[in-house]
Amino acid sequence: MIAIIGAGPAAMGAAIAIGKNAVMLERNPVPGKKLLLSGKGQCNFTNACDSEAFQRALAEFRNWLKPAFYAFDNRAFIRLLEDAGCPVLIRDDDKVFPQSMKAGDVRDTLLKIALGGGASLITDCRITHIEAVSDGFRLVAANGKRYQARKIIIAAGGAAWPLTGSDGSSYRLAASLGHRVLKPRPALASVRIKDYSPFSACAGIALKTRMSFGKNRAEGDLLFTHTGFSGPVILNNSRFLQVDDQIRLLLVDGSALSALLRRHPKKQLSSILPMLALPQSLAFAICRHLKIPAGTMAAELQASPRKLLESWLGSAPFRISALESLATAMSDFGGVDLKEVNTKTMQSRLTPGLFFAGESLAYSLPTGGFSIQMAFSTGYLAGKNVNSI
Ligand SMILES: Cc1cc2nc3c(=O)[nH]c(=O)nc-3n(C[C@H](O)[C@H](O)[C@H](O)COP(=O)(O)OP(=O)(O)OC[C@H]3O[C@@H](n4cnc5c(N)ncnc54)[C@H](O)[C@@H]3O)c2cc1C
Repeated sequence: MIAIIGAGPAAMGAAIAIGKNAVMLERNPVPGKKLLLSGKGQCNFTNACDSEAFQRALAEFRNWLKPAFYAFDNRAFIRLLEDAGCPVLIRDDDKVFPQSMKAGDVRDTLLKIALGGGASLITDCRITHIEAVSDGFRLVAANGKRYQARKIIIAAGGAAWPLTGSDGSSYRLAASLGHRVLKPRPALASVRIKDYSPFSACAGIALKTRMSFGKNRAEGDLLFTHTGFSGPVILNNSRFLQVDDQIRLLLVDGSALSALLRRHPKKQLSSILPMLALPQSLAFAICRHLKIPAGTMAAELQASPRKLLESWLGSAPFRISALESLATAMSDFGGVDLKEVNTKTMQSRLTPGLFFAGESLAYSLPTGGFSIQMAFSTGYLAGKNVNSI
């Protein structure tokens, strides 16, 4: 038997590649609990951008993940689901969902393909110990059951959103087998902002913005929440952010404001700021934050508040008071050190017969369907190599 720990997308990718002899050992009564939550229950399972753009999105993990992407890319994933009776919907922004917009359809279809190909699934089976022995591995489950496997694939996920079952087990099992594990920190996490109260009424506002933090620059959609910021530009960079870091947002080019102030001397600031595509409630919040009355007419705005407003809009500083915790972050950055895993096979460089896939590995990807795709792809690559090595 080839034991696959977990039954999320990485495990299902492996089970589909292996076929018979593959056994998924899943701690929950049902497989793919995190998959069911994904994309707000709609499951944005991949991204339809072209191969080059997809690989660019993998950022610093691009080279490492390339063999997995080539082994099973986004087109192959879409085809697999469609051929098995799960039509997909490709949105204008290239995010791909099941046409039904039900994550359960993706989970059920992948499971059907895996089981149809001869793999099997054992649920309520939390693996607590793995021992490498001369003819493979011995596994022990929390319920006392023991299993003997020729080879194993650890696909038990990361440490984010542990209520789904992915509570860092992968990391503990890998460490017990001698692997170096990078300590997980929240990734795809929103941030809380210090002294945010003037902006709490802006919750729900989404803007395109440029953000800078330290020497880094990023661009994308920002979402105001009741306590701080979320949206892709924050989520995708959250693994680089820490409490007390300052981020700066380019909300509006300051010179555009000067031109409008000159053109509309009798208009109030609360009417001029929305002309710069800033929603009214944000205009009021900015004025409150900068202590400039929103009713001030353009002609009456003194030089010093005008300069303050112009420079603030061009580089609005916000300080982070907290990052969303692992309890509800969508992902974590941490896990099995990539240096100890062969990128071409997903096999451990330390223990022959031991493979890793998905979020058990120390990579972190942006929102947009990249995480589920690469969980499946790394699982598939591991599965393909399990039989041939
Ligand atoms: C709220 C939310 C929304 C998301 N939305 C998206 C999205 O729209 N698009 C996207 O690409 N990504 C999304 N993600 C991320 C995506 O879900 C993960 O990247 C993906 O599920 C990782 O797959 P995996 O198979 O590696 O791990 P998981 O899906 O976490 O699967 C691991 C499995 O292993 C099981 N397990 C854990 N420990 C043990 C053990 N000791 N013994 C046996 N079984 C065990 C778990 O119960 C689980 O079923 C989202 C994540 C969250 C939390």
